[in-house]
Amino acid sequence: MELKITCIPGDGIGPEIVREAKKVLDKVAQLYGHEIKYKDILMGGASIDVHGVPLTEEAVADAKAADAVLMGSIGGDTTTSPWYQLPPNLRPEAGLLSIRKALNLFANLRPAVLYEELADACPLKAEISAKGFDMLIMRELTGGLYFGERKTVEENGIRKAIDTLTYDENEIRRIAIKGFDIARKRRKKVTSVDKANVLDSSRLWRAVVEEVAKDYPDVALEHMLVDNCAMQLVKDPAQFDVILTENMFGDILSDEASMVTGSIGMLSSASLNDTKFGLYEPSHGSAPDIAGKDIANPIATILSAAMMLRYSFDLDKEADAVEAAVKEVLREGYRTSDIMSEGCEEVSCSKMGDLLVERLHK
Ligand code: NAD
Repeated sequence: MELKITCIPGDGIGPEIVREAKKVLDKVAQLYGHEIKYKDILMGGASIDVHGVPLTEEAVADAKAADAVLMGSIGGDTTTSPWYQLPPNLRPEAGLLSIRKALNLFANLRPAVLYEELADACPLKAEISAKGFDMLIMRELTGGLYFGERKTVEENGIRKAIDTLTYDENEIRRIAIKGFDIARKRRKKVTSVDKANVLDSSRLWRAVVEEVAKDYPDVALEHMLVDNCAMQLVKDPAQFDVILTENMFGDILSDEASMVTGSIGMLSSASLNDTKFGLYEPSHGSAPDIAGKDIANPIATILSAAMMLRYSFDLDKEADAVEAAVKEVLREGYRTSDIMSEGCEEVSCSKMGDLLVERLHK
């Protein structure tokens, strides 16, 4: 199979972690007989330095021409970098917002996995973390409260702010379909999270999710109120497979789920549109404090590349192989400095990439 992948190395540790992910993808291609065509584009600070803007139209066209985009991270030190003296629409993050919009990426996926070997980093009680967990938060990314009409007015000398939370049934249906499709590739359970006891938008959400569920009789559906979900994530995270939810609830719950894993350098993510196309990136930032030192953890980016194989290319066996290699390397006791613990061997970013390449088997 031919895989056309556009890469955005970006800023800070971005180029280092993307280099390791490419090494792993190249080994996958060699083992399974695929051909990868890469194209690198600039975005964020790297693009500002060359073109004066965080994203050019040519870069967007290159991203659109690919089957999928693999990104490192963008941005610099927000207090010292000259990029942050620029007006907001010319700063690095504006590039990311523009590309998400240009590619119509409405579904954000963030897995939160607790690896047995990293259970010590989990802030939950040992009897909870001992069960492990492997969930995926599917968040609607382009609608809801963050995109509704908003204004601040003054009435009789009192300031009043208004935000509106709007969803139409098509916006809900397309993300629900993605959620059920992805659950079929996992343990076949969807927990749809809403606040249907209060909000009309949640009542519509629940109704449309139930309509979509009729086409997926093999996937179990449950509904959960968002406040209960926030509690259950720390009380019994092992119960979750796919959590499907709207933009603001997903923003909060995905951060909570990430933090209970305790390991920022391990967290992958994907943003998808209604085709197979997706943008895959680690959940962490560009870590300017450790850039260029070859000590960053490349695993979040490598796991993002595995998500790309699974969701954009339907190469599930290849994705399984990458995830198995990650588990094997952790089991053998190799760690980058961010996840280092007693009795383990500390390795560099590039060494971690090499080890994963060596442990990849068909
Ligand atoms: P950050 O995630 O970059 O770093 C937070 C801390 O975690 C730092 O101490 C860093 O060294 C560490 N860390 C992060 N990733 C690591 C890895 N792979 N291996 C080892 N340690 C790692 O968050 P921040 O410092 O708040 O932001 C830095 C820059 O990144 C800012 O410009 C911010 O806007 C940007 N950012 C970009 C994205 C993105 O591109 N999607 C996301 C978040 C932040």
